[in-house]
Amino acid sequence: VDIAKDSDLLHVVHVTAEMAPIAKVGGLGDVVTGLARACLSRGHKVDVMLPFYECIQKQQINDLALLTTYNSFHDGNWVPTNAYRGLVSGIPVIFIEPSNQFFKGQYVYGGSYNELEAYLFFSRACLEWMQVTGIQPDIIHIHEWQTSGLPILYWDMYHYLSLQKPRLVITIHNMEHYGECSQEQLNKCGLDGSIYATVDKAVDDRTIGHNPERLCLLKGGIVYSNAVVTVSPTYLQQTLCSGWLASTLIQNRDKYCGILNGIDTAMWNPATDVFLPAKFNAQRIEGKKMCKLFVQRGLGLGSEYNRPGNIASRITDKVPLVVCITRLVAQKGLHLITHAIKHVEQHGGQMVVLGKASDGRVEREFEALADMHNQGSSIRILLMYSEELSHMLYAAADMVLVPSIYEPCGLAQMIGMRYGAVPVVRKTGGLADTVFDMDDQSHAEIANGFLFEGIDEGSLNWALDRAFSYYREKPKEWGDVVRKIMEIDNSWSNTAGKYIDVYNSIRMKQ
Ligand code: ADP
Repeated sequence: VDIAKDSDLLHVVHVTAEMAPIAKVGGLGDVVTGLARACLSRGHKVDVMLPFYECIQKQQINDLALLTTYNSFHDGNWVPTNAYRGLVSGIPVIFIEPSNQFFKGQYVYGGSYNELEAYLFFSRACLEWMQVTGIQPDIIHIHEWQTSGLPILYWDMYHYLSLQKPRLVITIHNMEHYGECSQEQLNKCGLDGSIYATVDKAVDDRTIGHNPERLCLLKGGIVYSNAVVTVSPTYLQQTLCSGWLASTLIQNRDKYCGILNGIDTAMWNPATDVFLPAKFNAQRIEGKKMCKLFVQRGLGLGSEYNRPGNIASRITDKVPLVVCITRLVAQKGLHLITHAIKHVEQHGGQMVVLGKASDGRVEREFEALADMHNQGSSIRILLMYSEELSHMLYAAADMVLVPSIYEPCGLAQMIGMRYGAVPVVRKTGGLADTVFDMDDQSHAEIANGFLFEGIDEGSLNWALDRAFSYYREKPKEWGDVVRKIMEIDNSWSNTAGKYIDVYNSIRMKQ
């Protein structure tokens, strides 16, 4: 694809805890990779700075090489730190590897080190690397609470040293996680924690009498960044109206905006996807049927009639297959997911849940559900994280279910659509900005899925039942919808320009 280059070129450095596919837990990883790639194709210089997690598979990094060894500060000591350079999916990445225990362990999150202190260290180590190498980007783009200490360290420390040029953008992907922090922890990265215990800086507003001992990194990130972005226009409104950070956001309203996430159409492309047994696109849709059959056979769904060579296997092609690919956390509507499993089974559909729980109680609850259902022929509950399976499931699915209680943007519905899976979603946050109901006559031309509003089971049933009826009673129209949603442009090339506008509005003019 020929993408127009921007004339005024910037150097942008993302400082982030996640990057797809090598260190991805949820949507944050996808966003960093997708936005970075879109800005690169517009001609900008982009680097991603990422902790060198022990769990990163090195074979997924191209041209990995040690760049610099330098010292960065933690808790009164200078910690020898390596900076490596490499390419991930074509994007330049700088990996920061401290010589202490930080970022060791099997997973991106949940290691045995103190996570907050590790990310504060990482934030400072990124600035220290710029200081040591003399590299000064136009924009440092930080994400979430993990790197929210960086703007504070920048303005109150490194800006007094040698860093002059960079301006800061923070993207808030999820307001629920805010980086609760003590003064002492802030002291450990070399700041004077007591300075930040005021309402206009970083004190946690929920504590009685604004307990100066309780700080909030995300609030500091909002106050100290030049621009604040969240990931959809509807979530922007929701965050201004509710939640304890609303007052901080209202005070910073003039630098706060909502930009809908895109999807990385290089990574998510059913016409080229290496994980799929058959490729397809809106014009040549046959491959999607093969993906569905492949997944059904592989997982033993509809096993009573689905045997190779058995012409009855065509029957399973007529059974609606619903997928739900998600972190299993309260935000995602756990009770609605478990209810959907029952409801889909009762109504003769098939459903696959691909989910990972971080909480032991939730994990056990879903393990029990898996034990109950996985022997049958219509439900599979797969409790793991698998990038490969996720691609196959989106491709196989007739419908993708996203019943979130709240959802800042949501990528699953957009990825699902690109792979021809019709979204059935709760009308909240970014889901409300990307899915429009098939039965709402007022906007028939953009209708692309099924919505429900309540958080009760009845509301979900209503949307699922309408989707099932449409699928079964109007197969031709369903096919038209599938082709239509595959052609919707939810790509970053559509929205990256809005980030470039934000970057340009705050950059230091020469
Ligand atoms: P969130 O960022 O809250 O997790 P999003 O919908 O924005 O939600 O992004 C979720 C991303 O993570 C999607 O790319 C989705 O496919 C992926 N994902 C979630 N759970 C899993 C899993 N268990 N295995 C593979 N991919 C997953």
